[in-house]
Amino acid sequence: MSQLIQRTELKTFYYTPVHCPFCGVRVMGADPQDETRITACPHTLFIAHDTAFEYRSARLDKNLEFDGLSEREIEAKWHEDEHGIDGLTDKVSLADAIKVAAYAPAPSAYGSYYGFAPVE
Ligand SMILES: [Zn+2]
Repeated sequence: MSQLIQRTELKTFYYTPVHCPFCGVRVMGADPQDETRITACPHTLFIAHDTAFEYRSARLDKNLEFDGLSEREIEAKWHEDEHGIDGLTDKVSLADAIKVAAYAPAPSAYGSYYGFAPVE
């Protein structure tokens, strides 16, 4: 039985820039010209927020059985999950995978999700 991704939640310091725990790359906001730009390192599995995936790695697609699905079918998958993208990305079962979930406080309740796993 493979272990599910380990979760870390940021609720107070939700705006803290997230860096890869395995190589230290800052995955979002590293470019001062464009803070929305994503810098995925080899360990990055996904970068997402409540309404979309910003980045999905091939390892994620394989692990969540997205291979061969259209973008619409993938979107349908996380719409089916009670907790949306947050819930769906909790089902990742790659070895030693780590997820950082950053939740902006209510009333916005906006979440950002970052997944990482070591590479062989
Ligand atoms: Zn990395």
